[in-house]
Amino acid sequence: SHRFSVIQTAPPDAILGLTEAFNADPNPDKMNLSVGVYKDENGQTPILKSVKAAEQKILDSEATKGYLSIDGLPEYRADVRNLVFGETLAADRVAVLQTPGGTGALRVAADFMRTQLPKARIWMPNPTWANHPAIFAAAGLSSETYRYLGDDRTSLDLDGMLAALNDNAKPGDAILLHGCCHNPTGIDPTAEDWKQIASVIAEKNLLPLIDFAYQGFGDGIEQDAVGLRTVLEHVDEAIVCTSFSKNFGLYSERVGAVSLVAADVEQCTAALSQLKRVVRTNYSNPPRHGGAIVATILADEQLTRLWKEELETMRLRITRLREQFVETMKSTGSGHDFSFLLRQKGMFSYSGLSPMQVDELKSKHGIYIVGSGRINVAGMSETKMNSFCEAVASVMS
Ligand code: PMP
Repeated sequence: SHRFSVIQTAPPDAILGLTEAFNADPNPDKMNLSVGVYKDENGQTPILKSVKAAEQKILDSEATKGYLSIDGLPEYRADVRNLVFGETLAADRVAVLQTPGGTGALRVAADFMRTQLPKARIWMPNPTWANHPAIFAAAGLSSETYRYLGDDRTSLDLDGMLAALNDNAKPGDAILLHGCCHNPTGIDPTAEDWKQIASVIAEKNLLPLIDFAYQGFGDGIEQDAVGLRTVLEHVDEAIVCTSFSKNFGLYSERVGAVSLVAADVEQCTAALSQLKRVVRTNYSNPPRHGGAIVATILADEQLTRLWKEELETMRLRITRLREQFVETMKSTGSGHDFSFLLRQKGMFSYSGLSPMQVDELKSKHGIYIVGSGRINVAGMSETKMNSFCEAVASVMS
């Protein structure tokens, strides 16, 4: 018999499956609020103008397709350091490696922790991005969850979170935090909350692993780094996983970075050498193009200005959609108050819709939302807001 005949089919990715169904749906008014990709008013995810201009420059000037070094383009690595840490840290305490997307960064970090910090368990917020537990499990890390979402499903249970960490985390464990724009809930700690979280992390001697995939989508580029920088005021070791998929719209180019902060230059150098070993056995060295785009933009004052404007346009569209949705839901007279969406950040929010309501929105209205009720706010449309809200009100009544 054939050796592959015993292989069981793995379950399909829940969200990507919904997108297939969406693409096949003939409904002209269909809306896809499921995938984690920014959309403009036409439901498109266009290439940023700053990116196109940078690509043209690269096309004209690129002289080689030779390998990058294991840790990637030096200019790009300096850019990541500036965006994430600003002026807050001595450069020689931070090792930055360019990685294939934020997912690649998380996997490199997880493999590093598995081999170099073998006793560390990783504490994840409940809920978190579904790929977090999957990546940690694939790397062989043991993970635990800490309370994050309050019983109202619209706010942070800070006391519950701190109590869980205080009572259950062991010194030496790691804690996964979303730097901003928590996926899937949109619920972020306030600046005051971050101070308390940072204190507990310091007291319990936990290693922060900060997933930073939406910088600039919450309150702005610098503002979104406040939580991360607060944590770094309290501890001198951390790992940050950056993704430029969303804020540069570079999804398919796979542009990310893992940054390790160490107490001093010697420890930083040793850790970097181990991170490089992880990279060498995974994908050897990162792809050039996406990193070159970011580095080209950030080396050019005009392109940097254009990129910041484009990022701000994306951010403000999401904020506007949140406001418009809340207002329009009010005007349906259905009595459902969605004002909690105004306190949440980034593309995602938990809508509170049940799996049955989500099903009905899909079958009756061509509105695609994942079973948890998480919505991608950027998938909404200003011109279709009335009909969308009518549909939501109808399934909630
Ligand atoms: N972390 C979070 C929380 C995310 O939502 C995503 C993208 N969905 C990523 C990391 C990774 O993004 P990518 O690998 O596409 O850069």
